[in-house]
Amino acid sequence: MLQKVSISRCNDYRYEDVYSSVKHSIDLLGGIGEYVKTGQRVLLKPNLLTGKHPDMAITTHPAIVKAVITLVREAGGRPFIGDSPAAFPFAKEGIDKIAEITGMRSVADEMDVDIVDLSEAVAVRGPDGGIFKEHAISKVALNSDLVINLPKLKTHSQMVLTSAVKNLFGCVPGTRKVQWHYKAGVDRIYFARMLVEVSQIINPALTIVDGIIGLEGDGPGSAGTPRHIGLIVTGTDCSAVDLVVSRIAGVAWDQIPTIIAAREKGICKDLNEVVILGEMISKVAIKDFKLPVSVDLEFGPKVMRGIIKESVMVKPIENRDICTLCGECAAICPTGVITVGEKRLEIDYRRCISCFCCIEICPQGAMRSKKGLLTLLLS
Ligand code: SF4
Ligand code: SF4
Repeated sequence: MLQKVSISRCNDYRYEDVYSSVKHSIDLLGGIGEYVKTGQRVLLKPNLLTGKHPDMAITTHPAIVKAVITLVREAGGRPFIGDSPAAFPFAKEGIDKIAEITGMRSVADEMDVDIVDLSEAVAVRGPDGGIFKEHAISKVALNSDLVINLPKLKTHSQMVLTSAVKNLFGCVPGTRKVQWHYKAGVDRIYFARMLVEVSQIINPALTIVDGIIGLEGDGPGSAGTPRHIGLIVTGTDCSAVDLVVSRIAGVAWDQIPTIIAAREKGICKDLNEVVILGEMISKVAIKDFKLPVSVDLEFGPKVMRGIIKESVMVKPIENRDICTLCGECAAICPTGVITVGEKRLEIDYRRCISCFCCIEICPQGAMRSKKGLLTLLLS
């Protein structure tokens, strides 16, 4: 089945420009009235990974959320904002603090909408033909009439790029996320399969990607670098949106675990199955988008993996000049391999699963990924 994805330009976050660009991108797909009906409770799911100022391009910009609130109301819907941030419940900052720092609270107050913590989980059967019998999914997300997914276009140390599919991991409550990172740590495709199944369960009516200023380099947290892209990408199918985003960023589909996992399931196999509306990819593609330092831990012959793991793995390493020894990385680490010493962190790399939760959470941007010696020699 052909999927439609629209690409529209938007140079900056001036509200009037954002509103008209988001509206244009949805109009290309039939208009907001095609998706939102009068009286429906509509969950807007931005990326609220952690408490960072919108200029750092780690979280969805509040101007995008405000534009979507306005459009949902114009169609008679009742919007509210929800997420289960990575930081919660491990960091000192809960969703209220994160909403305040990311500018989401001031938009919510101005537009008179609620911000809901998606922390309560219910068990849901995995999709037919899937590999997971059950998923723990936010009750609020499941009980809403529809979901509009609002990801940020970013790099991700584990998933290479994070956009439509990965953003819905925020509908998996915080503590469950850590368990998943633990299970999936040495196998990115396994993790990606879970992400694709979660996106199938949530099945958002629309995904609208904030690609006005994205994040390149060692995303998805403070170690990444904001990059002006000037685009809004909108679609109804998460994997089709991710495929288009990957082409815009100049990354082959077989480098992105969530796209590999989606293709395994027969979802949106190729760009030939996507009708692109609005701007042409060839006109907006980024030539030099910087990807994170990352490597597949399944590299090498099986018998050698244990031996060469440390030299081939991409490891997290703290910059001692800016690390404050706050311990947030140690608190979120699913394998508990980080110990906060008096002057530095101790990381037991033999048990590290390269999930990079520590990089995501670090409030100082002090934690970065570094290639092992063998990987450096081979690259
Ligand atoms: S690396 Fe970051 S999160 Fe970890 S202790 Fe240092 S400042 Fe805190
Ligand atoms: S040290 Fe960092 S990358 Fe390694 S398991 Fe812990 S959180 Fe994941």
